[in-house]
Amino acid sequence: MPSSMFKEKILYGINASPGICIGNAYLLNQVNMDIVEKYYLSTKALPAEIKRFKAAVKKTRDELNRLIKKTPDAMQRQTGIFESHLMMLKDKMLYDKVIETCEQEQVNAEWAVKNVAANLKMMFHQMENPYLSARVADLTHVTDSVIKNLVGVQKVDMSGMKKRVILVADDLSPAQTSQISLKKTQGFVTNKGGKTSHTSIIARTLGIPAVLGLDGATDLISDDDLIIVDGTEGIVIVNPEEKTLLDFAQRQEAYDNYEATLTLNSDICAKTTDNVRLMVMGNIELPEETDSVISHGGDGIGLYRTEFQYLNCPTFPSEDDLFEKYKSVVEAMAPKPVTIRTLDINGDKAIGSMSGPHETNPFLGLRAIRYCLKNPDIFKTQLKAILRSAVFGNVKILFPMISCYDEIIMARELLNQAASVLDGEGTTFNMDIDIGIMLEIPSAIIMADKLAEQVDFFSFGTNDLIQYSLAIDRGNRDVAYLYDGLQPAVIRLMKHAADVGHKKGKKMSLCGEMAADSLYTPIILGLGIDELSMNPRSIPIVKNIIRAISMEESRQFLEEVLKQRTASDIMEMLQKTYGSLLMNKMY
Ligand code: PEP
Ligand code: MG
Repeated sequence: MPSSMFKEKILYGINASPGICIGNAYLLNQVNMDIVEKYYLSTKALPAEIKRFKAAVKKTRDELNRLIKKTPDAMQRQTGIFESHLMMLKDKMLYDKVIETCEQEQVNAEWAVKNVAANLKMMFHQMENPYLSARVADLTHVTDSVIKNLVGVQKVDMSGMKKRVILVADDLSPAQTSQISLKKTQGFVTNKGGKTSHTSIIARTLGIPAVLGLDGATDLISDDDLIIVDGTEGIVIVNPEEKTLLDFAQRQEAYDNYEATLTLNSDICAKTTDNVRLMVMGNIELPEETDSVISHGGDGIGLYRTEFQYLNCPTFPSEDDLFEKYKSVVEAMAPKPVTIRTLDINGDKAIGSMSGPHETNPFLGLRAIRYCLKNPDIFKTQLKAILRSAVFGNVKILFPMISCYDEIIMARELLNQAASVLDGEGTTFNMDIDIGIMLEIPSAIIMADKLAEQVDFFSFGTNDLIQYSLAIDRGNRDVAYLYDGLQPAVIRLMKHAADVGHKKGKKMSLCGEMAADSLYTPIILGLGIDELSMNPRSIPIVKNIIRAISMEESRQFLEEVLKQRTASDIMEMLQKTYGSLLMNKMY
């Protein structure tokens, strides 16, 4: 029985992926105690070892104090646990005993911590007092943190999981998330991350509930604790009481039923009440997700994020590997379109095996098209695979993170070179495809009239557009409250580009997370966006909303939105005008 199983705790994080799951926690990336080795020290080396132990304790104390300071007033109850951890760190039975063990046995600090902790735990267990038994979990958190600060974290292999668990981790990289097996994972909870971090995006595509940015989750949840994850509300309940369990089991059933009814109408096209049709498409990260776009009624794939095929490989994939994957997606969707976006690595999606200088600001660094233009061979390998796949259906190519005119010229030049090489090799390919760029950097929006000369379509990447225009790291939970697509500056930027693009006769699409949030649908319609692309599960929801709104009214609504000063003014307008439609939605 997990020892902290006595009191129900409610923890609050960011609602990263909707839905509810109930299961046992599986803590990832924790200290693997097996790697804590014992070694002996000379008398001369002991003072340095004690100093090392004290530094690790101080680091743990600082981490706990930081958590206490960052806990919002509304959640002060959570801080009691961290405070008890702080007390434990000072306790003579732990602190003094570790120093004594090091000195008397002349052993290393991590070994001493491990042994002292084991003895204390045994003592607590033997007392058969539920309160003291519950302290075992706290003691484990505290001593694990100290050991982690002494030896570093050992990654735990996910393949070791035996049952369907809820992953709890400090952070999950997009690469790790994309490897998650649905057979073994019901949901996940992390200390870090924000709503449009790529980890969240993958959770939504996979359709598993997730709460991210729950600072201290790995301290507050123990391995095997029974937990409820409500990814819609952004809460996690640890050790739920009987009646809480019952309540959430009912909510889980209601949510699953709601999802099932939505898909019933998913094949019907999305026409506004005044008969304007929008194409509603799906975003995918892996070819396996294509079926989900089809089953949710997607009119095509508006964004195929290709980088995930690179993230988990020790080497770069070959042209044939890439071609096979792209072909499978293109064939499955044909004759519906598939927009393949070229490699968008770095930012929060670093290739593990890639050796390169550490970047202080990865989101402003050698990311996406910048990386590709610096590595033309890697880029051309991908371009060749895309051109070959275009023989099998309706393919469009999309270049990410274009910030200036030269970049699109260079990207097109490399595309031409890729075609020439294929031609020279006698390989079949199709160069008659639409070429587009992401509008996700304000400079590209300002230059949209000139960039239009070089492209067939534009696609708004609002996840980055919000981040770059408001200067807010999209994965940083501390500034998540400022990350808001309703900021008038963001909407004005989009209005400018949409008008310019349409004037130049270009199709405007939107593939950021904004497309999936029906709160934005009236604004998106008002902007005259032609195509939306989103995580497949949101397709039926957004289609439903489009069918209930008039295009003409949305245009007029947008005119008023553009006169507002603040995001909350716009929110108020949305509530007043579309409240019953948008806010009554269950999720
Ligand atoms: C975006 O930035 O909105 C986008 C769709 O791309 P990504 O989330 O992959 O950066
Ligand atoms: Mg982007």
